Amino acid sequence: MFLPNISFIFLSGVVYSFSTTAKARFKARVFAITPYFCHMLEDKNQEKTTLESLGEFGLIDHLTKDFPINHESTIKGIGDDAAVLDFKDKKTIVTTDLLVEGVHFDLSYMPLKHLGYKAVMVNLSDIYAMNAKATQITVSIAVSNRFPLEALEELYEGIALAAKVHKVDVVGGDTTSSRTGMLISITALGEAVSEEIVYRSGAKPNDLLVVTGDLGGAYMGFQVLEREKEVFKVNPNSQPDLEPYSYIVERQLKPEARQDIVALLKSLDVHPTSMIDISDGLSSEILHLCKNSNVGCNLYEDKIPLDPTVISSCEEFKLDSTLVALSGGEDYELLFTIDQKEFPKIKGNPNLTVVGHTTDMNEGAFLISRNNSKIPLTAQGWNSFAKA
Ligand code: ADP
Ligand code: MG
Repeated sequence: MFLPNISFIFLSGVVYSFSTTAKARFKARVFAITPYFCHMLEDKNQEKTTLESLGEFGLIDHLTKDFPINHESTIKGIGDDAAVLDFKDKKTIVTTDLLVEGVHFDLSYMPLKHLGYKAVMVNLSDIYAMNAKATQITVSIAVSNRFPLEALEELYEGIALAAKVHKVDVVGGDTTSSRTGMLISITALGEAVSEEIVYRSGAKPNDLLVVTGDLGGAYMGFQVLEREKEVFKVNPNSQPDLEPYSYIVERQLKPEARQDIVALLKSLDVHPTSMIDISDGLSSEILHLCKNSNVGCNLYEDKIPLDPTVISSCEEFKLDSTLVALSGGEDYELLFTIDQKEFPKIKGNPNLTVVGHTTDMNEGAFLISRNNSKIPLTAQGWNSFAKA
């Protein structure tokens, strides 16, 4: 299922290749996209299996026949009217997300296998943000008959790979037709003992604000892919070189939910006081965390972790890298707070960056800029954006 070095993105027949020399802290999973992806939605002459020829039950059987069950908590998976789970003395964590074609993904540059993988990551990130272990997922899809069976096989290869890498059982779902685009809804379940669960609401004034990984990459990858899509529309024979953008394109197409952070926190014996997934953007999620915890915050612009590719692509696209990091979104990273006493435990860890601290609620939420001015944070970034 893996290919070691190169991934291909096919955009309506053009092969885009990009290397996947992953950074140590971003373990990108590499998979090859077989050539028929780009043709299958367009080339009517190719031999493809229609969904009608299988029927709904044939399709469900075909897509779900190879899912293994690994967790003791899965009593019954796919194949009955409902799954049966038993978490014994653990608490059950549940989250769900809906992805809609044309709103959340664009199949002209999002290979279906990547889409399946990403759809699972979107959900697992929310389980990890509770400091929990992910155990099961259900997968519901709505597709039109513009998709052949082979397209859904690609999607399910991505789902199966994500389930394998993150050790979750696929225990059910639903399959239905759609008049227009594709919809994917995934529900993820997880488990944790109640003392381990971390909510958005536990931060105290003067805690440290910590983010995982680096920010802004997924948004800049999106910018690059959108630009190439426009170039391609004008010149279908163009061969863009995505190599310089490989990191950010991967951040957009192959995000990896931070399962490793839950394990890392445990191994460092760090107990966050609050935690939140920041895939909707750092600034809006900091505000959620502050509101839920009844605290304010100072976030330091010069501490926000940025990959060099994000900085260079922001220069190229004439975008403010801080604004991109604060509001770009789709970085499947976590923000958490810790008591200052815990700082020595995380100091120097390449996965974790202290970006600020919490304050009393009545002090408000601010970005402290590089030139030391105090700018009120807004869900869109910060309000100096308005003057731009
Ligand atoms: P029901 O009529 O109860 O909705 P289905 O015939 O839709 O049952 O589903 C049969 C089994 O297959 C159930 O266990 C269901 O959870 C599972 N299932 C259906 N669609 C999917 C899917 N797209 N992915 C994974 N499992 C699915
Ligand atoms: Mg059903």
